[in-house]
Amino acid sequence: MDRRTLLKLMAATALAGTSPHNSASGKNSSKEKVLVVGAGIIGASIAYQLAKAGAEVTIIDSLAPASHASQGTFAWINATWAKQPKSYHALNQESVASWGQLQNELGLNIRWGGSLEWFASATRQDKLELQIAEQIAWGEPARMMSASEFKQHEPQVNFQGQNRVAYSPNDGAIDPVAATHSLLKAAVKLGAKLTYPCKLLELSFAGGRLVGAETSLGGIAIDKVVLATGAAPDTASRFAGLDLPQRSTPGIIAITKPMPQLLNGVISAPGIHMHQRTDGRIVLGEQSGPPKNEAHKNRLKGRPNGFPSRELAAEHATRMFAVAEVFCPKMAGLKIEDVHIGWRPLPLDGHPVIGASVRQPNVYLAVMHSGVSLAPIVGQLVAYELMNGKTVPRLDAYRPDRPFKRVKRY
Ligand SMILES: Cc1cc2nc3c(=O)[nH]c(=O)nc-3n(C[C@H](O)[C@H](O)[C@H](O)COP(=O)(O)OP(=O)(O)OC[C@H]3O[C@@H](n4cnc5c(N)ncnc54)[C@H](O)[C@@H]3O)c2cc1C
Repeated sequence: MDRRTLLKLMAATALAGTSPHNSASGKNSSKEKVLVVGAGIIGASIAYQLAKAGAEVTIIDSLAPASHASQGTFAWINATWAKQPKSYHALNQESVASWGQLQNELGLNIRWGGSLEWFASATRQDKLELQIAEQIAWGEPARMMSASEFKQHEPQVNFQGQNRVAYSPNDGAIDPVAATHSLLKAAVKLGAKLTYPCKLLELSFAGGRLVGAETSLGGIAIDKVVLATGAAPDTASRFAGLDLPQRSTPGIIAITKPMPQLLNGVISAPGIHMHQRTDGRIVLGEQSGPPKNEAHKNRLKGRPNGFPSRELAAEHATRMFAVAEVFCPKMAGLKIEDVHIGWRPLPLDGHPVIGASVRQPNVYLAVMHSGVSLAPIVGQLVAYELMNGKTVPRLDAYRPDRPFKRVKRY
């Protein structure tokens, strides 16, 4: 171990409350010391499962829990036709079921109302029918619904003359910020340490193994690190020695004040997604990207999570509500509470990046889109791999050292 590393580790008390190899009680700790970087829904789920499995967990976030994608997300829990191929679909299916277990375990509020989806063009509708047939073959209880049925299911929705829509009964929607906080609270209850704002600056290695992390609040002795840093562009190259190409795209999410119930499930209508949380808030997700002009390019350069003014935020939300009102006229005049810009953590091929770096020992990555749907299963499988030193074969397709081809999935 070099002198610089040793000095850093000796200073590693502010965060861990322990010296490098001793527990707070002064006895040697045999617990695995894992630092989870990023307190979004993925980091929170991993931290919770690690704490449950008996690790000594520290979670840090450079800003605050659920301050990035896990705030600016539509938060639809699903395993729909877009989850391709079958193995990735199966992982999402497993995760949707795991949300049910987590809901019981942590008392989470999830609206399990299924989803209804349709498109404006007849050609796209024909394709949707085929995609739903594939879903059925893959074990989803999805089906095409007729007009009389779906009008009963969502009496406040105007389907604009559509006579067939896709119904996925297993889908749900969640308040992602509340869920992240619940996972973190449960992890802390099991002994995890949550610190923010606190940024990972550097990792230290000695004798071919990871020994510590330098953060904006000081050093910490660790055995393993999980980089659950979402769309942060340089984390993999800086800390894992890997190139993780992302094409992170922005999306706008608008949320109302609590309302009497208008929607029963997730509505994926042409141009707009909407659902109503169990707390009554209606959430809209825009389906088109930002206009491709210079003004927007410049505005989005710094990847903002919000708008430069309340007026501009309101302008965007009003535009989205105008689209939503076509499908749900009772949304007219709703009071908007929040408008966020979310940046999708989107590896170039659209699939998650989960696994150990082949370049740096004990550095593990967990970066993905559809992270709300995937958080429960990813938390369980990552904790298993880290605690048992084994790999789970169904994560093999998502390893960080795979070749990345550009595939437009979202
Ligand atoms: C518009 C939009 C709509 C979406 N809709 C859905 C949907 O309907 N269903 C679905 O399943 N998924 C959806 N997603 C995707 C989903 O929201 C994300 O996959 C998920 O939130 C990712 O969570 P995360 O914890 O990995 O990342 P994040 O929530 O971004 O958390 C990463 C955290 O890492 C921290 N961090 C970064 N670098 C450092 C550092 N050096 N030191 C310390 N901390 C650091 C950041 O501060 C941040 O809080 C959507 C995303 C967007 C943007």
